[in-house]
Amino acid sequence: MQSCGMRITADQERAVVSSVRNELLVGGQWREAATGTEFSVVDPATGQLLCNVADAGPDDARAALDAADTAQPGWAAHPPRERGEILRRAYEAIVRRTEELSLLMTLEMGKPLAESRAEIAYAAEFFRWFAGEAVRIEGRYSVSPDGKGRMLVLRQPVGPCLLITPWNFPMAMGTRKIGAAVAAGCTMVAKPAEQTPLSMLALARVLEEAGLPPGVLNVITTSSPAETVGPLLEDPRLRKLSFTGSTEVGRALMAQAAHQLLKVSMELGGNAPFIVFEDADLDAAVDGAVLAKMRNIGEACTAANRFHVAAGLAGRFADRLAGRLGAMVMGRGTEEGVEVGPLIDEEARAKVAGLVDDAIARGAKAVVGGRPGDGPGYFYAPTVLEDVSVEALALREEIFGPVAPVTAFESEEDAIAAANDTSYGLVAYVFTKDLRRAFGAIEALETGMVGLNQGMVSNPAAPFGGVKLSGFGREGGREGIDEYLHTKYVAMNL
Ligand code: NAP
Repeated sequence: MQSCGMRITADQERAVVSSVRNELLVGGQWREAATGTEFSVVDPATGQLLCNVADAGPDDARAALDAADTAQPGWAAHPPRERGEILRRAYEAIVRRTEELSLLMTLEMGKPLAESRAEIAYAAEFFRWFAGEAVRIEGRYSVSPDGKGRMLVLRQPVGPCLLITPWNFPMAMGTRKIGAAVAAGCTMVAKPAEQTPLSMLALARVLEEAGLPPGVLNVITTSSPAETVGPLLEDPRLRKLSFTGSTEVGRALMAQAAHQLLKVSMELGGNAPFIVFEDADLDAAVDGAVLAKMRNIGEACTAANRFHVAAGLAGRFADRLAGRLGAMVMGRGTEEGVEVGPLIDEEARAKVAGLVDDAIARGAKAVVGGRPGDGPGYFYAPTVLEDVSVEALALREEIFGPVAPVTAFESEEDAIAAANDTSYGLVAYVFTKDLRRAFGAIEALETGMVGLNQGMVSNPAAPFGGVKLSGFGREGGREGIDEYLHTKYVAMNL
């Protein structure tokens, strides 16, 4: 592991962690959990304790829903312009506090500071986007076909929502849901991931300071998610579940949400193919591959999971990618210049190591990496594998780490068939200069999103989401607010 000069001091780290209120936010009050207990948050780069936070139980979750339910009618009636202004002020506050919020995120999640800064900017943009959307909730008026009646269609907030977010993008997965819910006029109970609760708690303070009324956003942190949120899914006052996380947990939550027939959004796992056709610009494809693979240390639902490269290019592509990944600086994310942080925990690292070992046992060759990093923390060296067997688990499962398996294809049809040979369908990346080939692939790929000649698709102004086992519902773009609105039709007899 290469080391870089330290820039952030231990005092700065302590100050940023202790600036977070480590309690629950319920009805505008910061309070301890009714359980009287706390759980610990650790730095994945060192395994050391950062702080403890309140450990909510079912009673706290019910109290949070009580508060959301009480606040709902007033919030739905709040002027849309003012809902937007609150988001706009929160956007400005997040941007102003980029350094502090980035450091906090790096400490709890491990990603390098440069990536945390990028996530803070991305997260803030959702508030800026939805600040504009708040005043664009439109309905329609029409004459009924028989010419006698009139039809009015209005869109109203769905009501109290449960928002469950993962640890890999601790801030952006929050703002992507909260921004839309605030704009639509919904109240919320937010439950961040156990490993990264601090960014959500900091975000709640930002919104409070931006003027969000008490009870609109309630935050419960917990080490027992199933037991804590379970009762909410059976409570008729809850109207909506928006979940981002693994397909396995999403499926279980959807079954529970069926009880009250909740409106549901599911942003789940991925297994993104990255296709490089023989006419592609190799430099652009390698740049795109580095971004699509290494953003967030590979711990992204959008991470390129399988590289399908035209047979004539595959060897050169793997060598060039290996050169880039092998040169990346691995280390604690707080150190300036670090490009690859640790994985989130030992379990995640063991999973990545197991997938690499399985691929190698089936005949793959590690062009670079292929082993865990040195020292404390859950590091895994950036890895490129070539000659990967179609049987390898790394091509079937979400790797969620810095490992790039490269396989060669002979024909366009083979490339598309291989890309679609997965039960996931979040995103695919395609590199080609041929317009016909590009559109052929775009139309044939079974995914919710496609990156054409670029290694990143995330954009607050675009509808983010998947098909197949990657879920349904869209976050961001004009579609994002729809997840928090329902349609009411009025038949009018004049
Ligand atoms: P996860 O284990 O499914 O957890 C996600 C969230 O669900 C966490 O807050 C977790 O709490 C909570 N949770 C777990 N079990 C629960 C239960 N029985 N009832 C209620 N809540 C429960 O996923 P993760 O490991 O945090 O995140 C990684 C996954 O998220 C990957 O599969 C990734 O692809 C996916 N992801 C998808 C998108 C997208 O937009 N499609 C974006 C980012 C990530 P605890 O932390 O306490 O377990």
